[in-house]
Amino acid sequence: MRLGRPQPRPAPQVAPQPAARQALHCTGPLRWRSLAHTYETDILRLRLDAPGLDTREQWHSLLYAVLEGAADGLEISRADIDGVVHSGADGRSGLVLFDTVPGGAGSVLRIAGALDTVIATAVRRVASCDCGLETSCYGCLRTPRNERHHEDLSRGAALTVLTSLNGLASWAEPPGA
Ligand SMILES: [Zn+2]
Repeated sequence: MRLGRPQPRPAPQVAPQPAARQALHCTGPLRWRSLAHTYETDILRLRLDAPGLDTREQWHSLLYAVLEGAADGLEISRADIDGVVHSGADGRSGLVLFDTVPGGAGSVLRIAGALDTVIATAVRRVASCDCGLETSCYGCLRTPRNERHHEDLSRGAALTVLTSLNGLASWAEPPGA
């Protein structure tokens, strides 16, 4: 590496701006877009077949129940873990949990090793909440970070799936699968 006085950067090329009148008359379709960036972290993929797991609402309800169960049951900060509903190459849906800390903090690895505790805690949480079974609240499934799914989340749906799960050890795919 050569050290020396920093050189002034060339002035950025400025693209010509569209006329203001054009910008005011957008007629294209509106679509949700998620902004994202890439980073490496630990992930845990969970695949399961259980009664009551067909719709997006049911999958999201299960996802956030599992995350809350992991946070409560294993004393992991909820901000350190998150997850998505993901379709595999075979078209089957599943859950992917991940550490939000770049590089991974080992949280999802702990979840993989203690799924029974995670599920038991999730069942207790969704079974004991005061909100209606057909909905959810910040005491069971909702957080500020899953706000876009709030209308989908039903603690009754989560409870149905969680209580039907058996053989939890077979959920988790081994790392690298
Ligand atoms: Zn609730």
